[in-house]
Amino acid sequence: MQVIFASGNAGKVAEMQQLLRPVGFELTSLKDFGLEGAAETATSFVENALIKARAAALATGLAAIADDSGLVVPGLNGEPGVFSARYAGDQANDASNNSKLLDQMAELDDRRAHFFCCLVFLQHATDPTPKIAFGRWDGEILRQPQGAGGFGYDPLFYLPSENASAAQLPAAAKNQLSHRGRACRALLSQLQDNA
Ligand code: IMP
Repeated sequence: MQVIFASGNAGKVAEMQQLLRPVGFELTSLKDFGLEGAAETATSFVENALIKARAAALATGLAAIADDSGLVVPGLNGEPGVFSARYAGDQANDASNNSKLLDQMAELDDRRAHFFCCLVFLQHATDPTPKIAFGRWDGEILRQPQGAGGFGYDPLFYLPSENASAAQLPAAAKNQLSHRGRACRALLSQLQDNA
């Protein structure tokens, strides 16, 4: 089955393609259709993923998958949350987002945080029974960056069980542990159960 993956990120599309091969999905990306992603206007990850999947299904007439993810800090009332990519403003990049996070948490002793990922699969734009999968990855926010790998908030995200930040993990280890890896495996098992 041909499925549109509502992302312009080629790395993510390739990763997802690999993962969903067992259910016979052939993923195409928004770029293949010359489409932009829908605006992420909602306040929760699941709502944003649904918005993106519906828009992609509507625009292409195909079944669609979308994801939405970010960092959640309970001590900051869930921030940066759905604003993770643009926490430091519209021109934000990883460095400015990380620096804002450190500033906001300067007085906080509660350093708990988790990454969260939601994946949605729709058979078509008006599918009333979307398949929804979640993945969560718990850690702590460091007081200064550690490690040079990964992306986003990885250098500040410390895993006590690994005695390392996410930016210090080999890619395979991160995929095994991460919110995205967990959500992908959960979606795959839903798709296989209902094949
Ligand atoms: P997206 O859903 O992949 O666009 O991710 C939204 C934002 O959340 C990213 O721009 C990052 O700032 C943050 N984020 C999501 N996943 C990760 C991760 O695995 N490591 C570090 N930051 C992440």
